[in-house]
Amino acid sequence: MPSVSPEVQAREWHSMVAQFPDALTHALKGLVETHKATLAARFYEQMLADPNASLILSHEDVKSRLGSSMQAWLVKVYSARAGDDFLPLVALQKQVGEVHARIDVPLHLVLGGARYLKKQLYQLIAEQGWAAQEHAQILRLASETMDLAMEIMSHAYSRSHDRNSRNEEGYRLFSVLQNITTERERQRGALLDWENSLMFDLAMGASGANLPRLAAADFGLWFRHKGAYAFQNTRESEQILAIIRHVDDELLPRFLAAAGDEAARMSLLREIRDRTKSLMFNLDSLFNSANELESGRDVLTRMLNRKFLPVVIGNEIAIAQKTGQRFSVLSVDIDHFKSINDRFGHDAGDLVLQQAAEILSSHSRAGDYVFRMGGEEFLMILVDINNANALKVAEKLRHKIGAETFNLTEGRKHRLTVSIGVATYSGHPDYQHLLRQADQAMYQAKQGGRDRVVSYDTLDG
Ligand code: GH3
Ligand code: MG
Ligand code: MG
Repeated sequence: MPSVSPEVQAREWHSMVAQFPDALTHALKGLVETHKATLAARFYEQMLADPNASLILSHEDVKSRLGSSMQAWLVKVYSARAGDDFLPLVALQKQVGEVHARIDVPLHLVLGGARYLKKQLYQLIAEQGWAAQEHAQILRLASETMDLAMEIMSHAYSRSHDRNSRNEEGYRLFSVLQNITTERERQRGALLDWENSLMFDLAMGASGANLPRLAAADFGLWFRHKGAYAFQNTRESEQILAIIRHVDDELLPRFLAAAGDEAARMSLLREIRDRTKSLMFNLDSLFNSANELESGRDVLTRMLNRKFLPVVIGNEIAIAQKTGQRFSVLSVDIDHFKSINDRFGHDAGDLVLQQAAEILSSHSRAGDYVFRMGGEEFLMILVDINNANALKVAEKLRHKIGAETFNLTEGRKHRLTVSIGVATYSGHPDYQHLLRQADQAMYQAKQGGRDRVVSYDTLDG
């Protein structure tokens, strides 16, 4: 989606507000300020009546904070005056839109909420007994302001959503096709095997049910179950599926029906061969695009790239909401890593990073995830685990790393320690919230002297 710059949005907001006299914007601001608490309260009553919305809004944190941030939002949006700087106001709408996308609030709920707020505002305005012309203008100002805020919010929302779904697609591919090069060769081979055995059977005069159907051959099985899933929503994938059906349901039966007609059979054989070529072509093109996904893993440590973090953590939140199970996040940072680079060189530092990553991943369970966040920072997601057990795992990892002798360049050895922050999912729908908690805990571990594990739950305030 093409983007609209904040400057353009700010100019639009400015020219919208500039249509109205200052006295009018002032009057509306006063009205909103006086009634902000009631407006916000009614808004949430209305929202909580919707079962989809109440799932998102039910978390205690959300409940306690949203009321006041909704009030603050209303006042900010309706305080804009022609002389103001509109960029911060635009940035605020953008930020709200991004949070909505992150926690997957359906857009129609947001828009429905805005419509409801407008209705409340209209009612308040009607009660003021303004003269007809003023009344009409204030209604327009109230409405255009809300619409503009929603427009900017939705724009940010859909951009963010697009980005998320691209990552999601990337991750799906990546998880199904662990090793793209081998898989490609294996599937090319499987397709040729099918073609060879078909040609052989046809040459030997096999008939009817004995012919190897493409859908049931190794290639067909793989593609229909795994390939089509990994490459879904691509033109190539649709074509491969269509060709499989065409070969099995049309060409093979026609070949059998043409018994005795050698010319017809020859032309059908050529057609089958052409279809196989086309399958191969489409398959190559899919695998070529998948090659780009090698970047799904960090090149140095082979841990997951942080771009998949939103997808993975979003999945875990969805699972937790369904099953009621907790999961935990570990923010792991190597202590005084810079001094390793400084003393032994960058290559030695790289070796240490590889070994540390290896320890983290080999001492976690199959369902867990290790991301390299950048530099010497890793993030682990431990699935189906409560805070107490996550702390135990973190302690175990800290000990493992502390006990390891790391190999540096030129046969040198080194010891090191890590600081780990632990946070456990508590129902808050925004994953950034959880990541911030883990980071805060890690920061406290550093403050407390490093080489330790701190749980967010034990922090003050
Ligand atoms: P602290 O205990 O506070 O975490 O100190 P620190 O030295 O570990 O942390 P700091 O963030 O000051 O330094 C991190 C260093 O990691 C700085 C950077 O040069 C180095 N680094 C980042 N990425 C890589 C990498 O890929 N390879 C190597 N060898 N070094 C890296
Ligand atoms: Mg660091
Ligand atoms: Mg560090």
